[in-house]
Amino acid sequence: MKHYDYLVIGGGSGGVATARRAAEYGARVLLIEGGRLGGTCVNVGCVPKKVMWYAAGLAGALRDAAGYGFSVGAAGFDWKALKERRDAYITRLNDIYDGMLAKAGVDLVRGVARFVDAHTVEVHDERYSAPHVVIATGGRPVIPDLPGAELGIDSDGFFALERQPRRVAIVGSGYIAVELAGVFNALGSKVTMLVRGEHLLRPFDRMLREELMTQMQDDGVGLRLRTRPQSIARAAHGALQVRCDDGGTLEVDALLWAVGRRANTDGLNLAATGLAPEADGVIRTDAFQDTTVPGIHALGDVTGRAELTPVAIAAGRKLAARLFCGATDSRLDYELIPTVIFSHPAIGTVGLTEDEARAQHADVRVYTTRFTAMYHALTEHRPKTAMKLVCAGADERIVGAHVIGDGADEMLQGFAVALKMGATKADFDNTIAIHPTSAEEFVTMR
Ligand SMILES: Cc1cc2nc3c(=O)[nH]c(=O)nc-3n(C[C@H](O)[C@H](O)[C@H](O)COP(=O)(O)OP(=O)(O)OC[C@H]3O[C@@H](n4cnc5c(N)ncnc54)[C@H](O)[C@@H]3O)c2cc1C
Repeated sequence: MKHYDYLVIGGGSGGVATARRAAEYGARVLLIEGGRLGGTCVNVGCVPKKVMWYAAGLAGALRDAAGYGFSVGAAGFDWKALKERRDAYITRLNDIYDGMLAKAGVDLVRGVARFVDAHTVEVHDERYSAPHVVIATGGRPVIPDLPGAELGIDSDGFFALERQPRRVAIVGSGYIAVELAGVFNALGSKVTMLVRGEHLLRPFDRMLREELMTQMQDDGVGLRLRTRPQSIARAAHGALQVRCDDGGTLEVDALLWAVGRRANTDGLNLAATGLAPEADGVIRTDAFQDTTVPGIHALGDVTGRAELTPVAIAAGRKLAARLFCGATDSRLDYELIPTVIFSHPAIGTVGLTEDEARAQHADVRVYTTRFTAMYHALTEHRPKTAMKLVCAGADERIVGAHVIGDGADEMLQGFAVALKMGATKADFDNTIAIHPTSAEEFVTMR
């Protein structure tokens, strides 16, 4: 048996961050990773997704170039070549993570961890113990239980695709579904989204949902609302036949499930610790990332809250500071977390939706704008940019800021700082615009 101060299960965004920070504070740390270092974000999430989004953006720029006098087209796109370059980049990142852990003095064991008791885990028949154990095992995509479901792929399978499918069905309405639909569509696949309800991105502000739906349809994405697949079968010529619950069928070359994720807790043998996960595998924690078992902590996607890389990282660092640097009050504030959806066009959002604000505050005022960004003044493709500020109270404190349009991805980080500091509409009005940009509309709305 080997003893440490801190056992970290999972080498993804949260696990690596907490392990490194704890080691910086002088703790003896062991990190256990069953797959590739960097976890979901680096290998099958944010990073390869953003590479694909950039490729889709280039396809869009090539389409728009004619408006600026260029005669070029997007002919000659090579999916396989892009995948090879993307994979090589990710392998470099895996190595960088390895190096960072070694440099920080974190011991690394490769293998799947299983609890023996609340303070002991086993990997390949070797046991390790520590007074503090953190579960940072993330999640994985869910594939529904229906006939032929296994013929589809999930988001992990998307990143494994060696060839671009000509026709794709995407099942789901969350951010992963809309992002991957946008990528496929921009790169030339014919995309049909099968959406169970009435909306894409259901928890988001109404304006964002409606604009996105309009713009995706304008861009040629097929949206079949109130439709679920019932069965999938492979036809003799290789294509997939999707039978839907509205009686319709669809023939595609690939079907992608983007219907949710499940926390990775099934193989941990939590029974040995006394911890009981929720039905969806999630481990609930208090505000300090503590579980109900003393000395066992959890963070990141496995806790089912704000499933984003920077959230997992921040929670991990705060926890390390509390456990190993005497910062007794150190905990992550889960309010006002900004986020971007890398859809086409991109969405940036922070704070309350208009509906949430109206439910929580008596005195809500909303400012909106909708315009064609200057870049599109000359292009044939003319998507709209739309913005909304949600203000509450007599002093019009800004409680929500939402934008859809080109550049939204890089627009909201600074505004998120302003919201966190309690900015009011008057503060925005008193800020000089940066011209000519789309972002300036955030400080000129009336
Ligand atoms: C397609 C997609 C796109 C995304 N895009 C974004 C984005 O643009 N921005 C953003 O902020 N977030 C994005 N996310 C979410 C982001 O990837 C996650 O929030 C983040 O990776 C969570 O980090 P984590 O440390 O909790 O878990 P993970 O990164 O999932 O890491 C968990 C690690 O634990 C390991 N593990 C599991 N069980 C065991 C075990 N028993 N023993 C040992 N190791 C184990 C796994 O192999 C994995 O490496 C995206 C996710 C997906 C799927």
